[in-house]
Amino acid sequence: MYKGQKYDFLIVGSGLFGSTFAYKANQAGKSCLVIDKRPQLGGNVYCEKTEGINVHKYGAHIFHTANKAVWDFVNSLVPFNRYTNSPVANYHGELYNLPFNMNTFCQIWPDVKTPAEARARIDEQVNDAIKLLNDANDANDVREPRNLEEQALLLVGRDIYEKLIKEYTEKQWGRRCTELPAFIIRRLPLRFVFDNNYFNDPYQGIPIGGYNLLIDKLLEGAEIKTNCDFFREYKDSWRDIADALVYTGQLDEYFDFRLGRLDWRTVSFKTRIEDTPNYQGNAVVNYTSHDVPYTRVIEHKHFESFGQAVYDNPKTVISEEYSTEFKTGMEPYYPVNDDHNNFLVDQYRSLAAKENNVIFGGRLAEYKYYDMDKVIERALSAFV
Ligand code: FAD
Ligand code: UDP
Repeated sequence: MYKGQKYDFLIVGSGLFGSTFAYKANQAGKSCLVIDKRPQLGGNVYCEKTEGINVHKYGAHIFHTANKAVWDFVNSLVPFNRYTNSPVANYHGELYNLPFNMNTFCQIWPDVKTPAEARARIDEQVNDAIKLLNDANDANDVREPRNLEEQALLLVGRDIYEKLIKEYTEKQWGRRCTELPAFIIRRLPLRFVFDNNYFNDPYQGIPIGGYNLLIDKLLEGAEIKTNCDFFREYKDSWRDIADALVYTGQLDEYFDFRLGRLDWRTVSFKTRIEDTPNYQGNAVVNYTSHDVPYTRVIEHKHFESFGQAVYDNPKTVISEEYSTEFKTGMEPYYPVNDDHNNFLVDQYRSLAAKENNVIFGGRLAEYKYYDMDKVIERALSAFV
């Protein structure tokens, strides 16, 4: 307890939202108690050191942003390295660069050498798809895709769809592409340059020394309690110890699930140490065929080691990532934005708006998929 006085803020959750808010509050001379139900800090960006390697325990996290103020903010706390995400896809042992760019096109079609030739090949296949769609609809100009498969064929044509999209997407979502909505891949980027950078943002990297350092800096000056579940310890009594609450846990849980449970999608990881300095030569390899049960393999050392440094550590740590049906008790990772959940979350948001002196922030409490830069941006502006 804070010398018998009240804290200015009780912050539930030490992820990037809670930690960034605590930093701003501390800078403004406010007192904070930050609690987390996990044994460690940082929420989903927490890394566990194994064989000297920062292992992204809750999924691979690559920081990228177009917001210079956010980039300058995080770099003022911990400098970031030059990591650039450039995943590779493995389809039945054939390797392709992602995102879809000139490297990919030359690998898929060895006779293609120039952007004009690549464009022509894709146009040819897209026209075939339009024709097929029209024939199926018995019409002359039906271009509106009814599902993800039609959307993909209209954007990139059959070759790329079959090798790099179809089976990967079916594994990831557990449904056929013909049963998935088109919007999931509506903005698939096609690049007619030799550029494997997955992101278009001007700023990208990983904190040098890992994300835990960033979280430690953000939480400097705050009082911390881990293994502390808000619902067990403070739900009914928090107003006795703090003037305001910053809640970054699940929105429906705050209201005791009284309107029903919001759905989530989750992934699970199988992590192991390999007795080799360099297992796959890249941080991210997507497995785009059905015969491999996992969607991706992450080799964590490549986020922070480059060149010869990769070989300075004779071991490596890899994680296979599996798409998994969500059940109560699993990690809630991705909100499900279908009609049912959109309706339910709106009702919960109306309840939240009526709570006095409570700020609901972050991906769990807002039920929104936010990249890290967006969560930081929101936390910086939530503190006024
Ligand atoms: P969280 O990090 O989830 O933190 C919430 C914290 O609240 C947790 O520590 C939790 O234990 C705690 N908590 C919850 N309930 C309670 C309670 N009752 N009592 C006490 N504590 C509680 N973003 C990117 O920009 N790049 C990426 O590459 C990227 N990869 C991702 C990969 C995966 C698999 C996932 C799921 C997300 C990824 N993200 C990525 C998004 C990123 O994880 C989020 O933007 C960010 O972590 C959200 O921070 P947060 O504070 O809102 O939530
Ligand atoms: N996707 C694909 N093949 C790949 C990578 C992605 O077909 O190798 C599709 C897939 O449908 C996925 C979508 O693109 O759901 C978005 O992928 P991204 O990697 O951007 O997001 P994440 O998988 O992290 O949700």
